[in-house]
Order: sequence, then structure tokens, then C-alpha cells
Amino acid sequence: MTYFEPGTAITASKLPLDNSFASLPPAFYTRLMPTPLPAPYLVAVSAPAAALIGLTPAQVADSLDILAGNAAPERAEPLAAVYSGHQFGVWAGQLGDGRAMLFGDVATAEGPMELQWKGAGLTPYSRMGDGRAVLRSSIREFLCSEAMHGLGIPTSRALSVAGSDQGVMRETVETSAVVVRMAPSFVRFGSFEHWFYRNKNDELKVLADYVIDRFYPELRAEANPYQAFLAEVTRRTAHMIAHWQAVGFMHGVMNTDNMSILGLTLDYGPFGFMEAFNSDHICNHTDQQGRYSYANQPQVGHWNCYALGQALLPLIGEVDATQAALDVYQPEFAAKMDELLHAKLGLTILTEQADADRALFDAMFALMQANSVDFTLFFRRLGGVKAADASGDEPLRDLFIDRPAFDAWAAQYRARLQAEASDDAARQLAMNKVNPKYVLRNYLAQVAIEKSQNKDFTEVERLLTVLQRPYDEQPEHDQYAALPPDWASHLEVSCSS
Ligand code: AMP
Ligand code: MG
Repeated sequence: MTYFEPGTAITASKLPLDNSFASLPPAFYTRLMPTPLPAPYLVAVSAPAAALIGLTPAQVADSLDILAGNAAPERAEPLAAVYSGHQFGVWAGQLGDGRAMLFGDVATAEGPMELQWKGAGLTPYSRMGDGRAVLRSSIREFLCSEAMHGLGIPTSRALSVAGSDQGVMRETVETSAVVVRMAPSFVRFGSFEHWFYRNKNDELKVLADYVIDRFYPELRAEANPYQAFLAEVTRRTAHMIAHWQAVGFMHGVMNTDNMSILGLTLDYGPFGFMEAFNSDHICNHTDQQGRYSYANQPQVGHWNCYALGQALLPLIGEVDATQAALDVYQPEFAAKMDELLHAKLGLTILTEQADADRALFDAMFALMQANSVDFTLFFRRLGGVKAADASGDEPLRDLFIDRPAFDAWAAQYRARLQAEASDDAARQLAMNKVNPKYVLRNYLAQVAIEKSQNKDFTEVERLLTVLQRPYDEQPEHDQYAALPPDWASHLEVSCSS
């Protein structure tokens, strides 16, 4: 496997693909070809994602037939993988790639990257589905994958969106699209649950050994590599979810079949970014019980790790060892969350301030909730507060209805800043690197989607450019950092994709 320079004569059809997953026994997948997408057109390409696999955006754009699944790269061995999972807390049995197809992996500077079509037609795992994805959800997945990467949060990536006028039925008729997405691996918690629930310990071991050898080789040195594997996945999952909480990201469908074995944000559907803060916010209209609400995400992450732990129990061998690996979750989540919150407030972690800081954070969230304060604007504007006096408070204060309550909290915050002799300019600079100015608000995605449905793809491109640098001031794009307009309050996203 060699890494090659962007801009050389290599095109998507000549991608130097390996087919690592296809080297597993046939029980793990079905080989097949994508179903051609009629009269495809290019909607979007991510230049950084292209660069990662050694292609220029122009080379990607020139490969529309491949992006749409109408042709495969020469060395591709396309397949749909089988997996199972728990959906909304209930065992759902076999699921699998119902519309995604893996077509190989490329060696990159960041390690191997697998490429998948999503929405490329029927597979043996399509169940009642049509194997397609709609343009709406494809643009949302494309933009959010690249936005999360821009935010520095572990995620699958998106290379391209190809659209077609072919209609598919959802709540209404919509047009279809294919996303080419990338990740080192698309193996999920549910990939392991699949074999556990079928009492197939041999396959379970083959899959675990494959994932460990390829992605966690250092764990081979541990006394019980399978236990160490569970502990490491648990740790990564806890960290990923702490990152989500810190930017107000809600996944929407944290089923175990959507949980990456590498701790990556995976399978973007009815996700959302918190706007008016409400810890119980549910971003997925289909999730009526609120199982996957913002406040529930951390414990659901732990629950999902338990599902994985149960599936790995035959390999780990002992309940106690499995439990010990799962016990990694709470302290890892708490420590990461504490670290991220301190950074968001521009504070150094000081042991003697631990209790006071917790109280300061709790009071802050309570105040944000009582005043329905916009999550992203709050933290970005918090960087403008001065340690000495209230002269920098105004833009932040404007977000609150209850100004005296805000002033009381701001006084506590200022006292805390003074306790560590915080420098205003340095602190704001540091806070701006962790509190994004730009996130993919639902209404921004919606505007880009509606323009794209009318064949104007410029807004997708513009949004992509803005969201690739979410921490930078981009004064020419200030409107993308604004509060949502009134019409956006009627927007609903559901599992329909
Ligand atoms: P999701 O909740 O989108 O992660 O999907 C859950 C399961 O349903 C996965 O096995 C998907 O492959 C499958 N699925 C979702 N939408 C479709 C579709 N339109 N056609 C076929 N399978 C689908
Ligand atoms: Mg899924």
C-alpha cells in the first residue's frame, strides 16, 4: 500500500484500492454491484475528503459515473455487509447494509480509508426499503460529516453527492442521490451482536481479530486483548459523546447498528445541533419517547457499550472482566466532559475549584435553559466577557430575557476568572478554538436542500466551505452564524431518509 500525491494522473477509476473487508469469509457480506442511478448529476464534492484519498476535486467531479454507482473503480470488489442491532432499546435482529455498499479501501496519510456508496440500490439486507437515499438526507449527511470533521470530532467523512431525478417514495415523492462516504471501517457494535445472537462464536472471533489486528494492534500485547478491545471502544465512545455534548450535537438514532467500532460519528440521519437550549431536546421527530434526547445521549452511549460487551462476552470469557471494561465509561466521559467544559469557559482545571466549577456549570445550563438561549451563540459570545468588569457582557447579555439572573451568573464567572488571573485576549483566542461560530443548523441545511432540489448547488458548496472552518471568524459569512429565522421553528426531521 502506497500513498500517492494529489494531482497526479490517477483518477477515481484507477484508485489503488485494496479490499480488506472482502478478505473476510463470505458469511460477513454479500458481493454485488450497485444499481445504476438514472441520468446522474454532480451535487457536491468535498475537496479535503478528495485530497485524503489523493484526488483533486476535479478528478472526483470527472468520475460522476463512479460517484453515482454507475461504474466501479477497476479494483473495486463491492459488497454489502451484514449486521444486526438494537433499535430504540429493542433487539431488532438482522439489519445490514440495506443501501450502502463498500467498494474498497485506499491507503492514506491517515491510514486506510474505506469507500462506500450510500443509496446505491437494493441489497439482500434492504428488508422493506428501496435501497435508495433521498437528496435531502444525502446533503445533510454530506454536510454534517464534513462539518463534524471541521469541528475536530471523530466522524466518517463524505466525498461526494450525486443526484438523480429518479423519484423515490418517502412521506412524499422525493428525488434520489448517492453519497460516497469514507471511514477507516464501517464495522458497528451491531456487527458483533449479529454473531453473538446467533451463537456463532467462530465468526465473532474472526471479526474481533480482524478489527483488533487492523485498528487496535497494540492491544495484542494485553493479557486479554478482547477485554482491552472492549475497554478501548468504550473509552472512545465516551469521548465521542462528550464531544457531541460540548458542541450541542444530537445524533438522533443512537441504535447499536449506528455505533462505530472505532468511536466515529456514523450514519447521519435526523441529527441536529442544539439551538435554544433545552437539555431534554429531541432532534428526531420519530423518537417520541425521547430515548435519544440531548440529556440521554451519554447514558445511551453506555447502554450501547453494554450491548457490545454482552456480544464480546464469549471472547472475553468472564463477566467480571467484561464489567471492568464497561466501567471505563463513566470516569472517561466525566473527565472528558469536564475538560471540554473548562475549555469552553476558558478556565484552567484547578483541583481546589472542582466543586465550585461544577456548580458554575450547572447554574449556567439552568440559566441557558430558563432563557432558551442559543447554544452556539452563548459559548461564542462568552469569549467576549472581560475578567475585570461587565464592559464586554452586552452581546452575551442580549441573549437573555432574565437579565438580573444573567448578571448574577456573570459575576460568579468573573470571580472565577479572577481567581486564576485570566488574560482576556489570550482566553478569547483559546475559547474561539473550541466554541464554534458556525454549526450546521437545520435551517441552513434546509435552504441548501431546497436550492439543490431546484438544481442550484451553490449553497451546498458555500455551506461546506464555511463549515470546514467553524472556529474561524469569517465576517463575510456572518449570516450563517445568525439565529434561526421564525420559519425554521416548523422544521422537523425524522428517520425518513
Ligand atoms: P438507519 O436507521 O438509517 O441507520 O437504518 C437502519 C437500517 O435500515 C439499516 O440496515 C439500513 O441499511 C436500512 N435502511 C434504511 N433506509 C433504507 C432504504 N431506503 N432501503 C434499504 N434499507 C434501508
Ligand atoms: Mg444505520
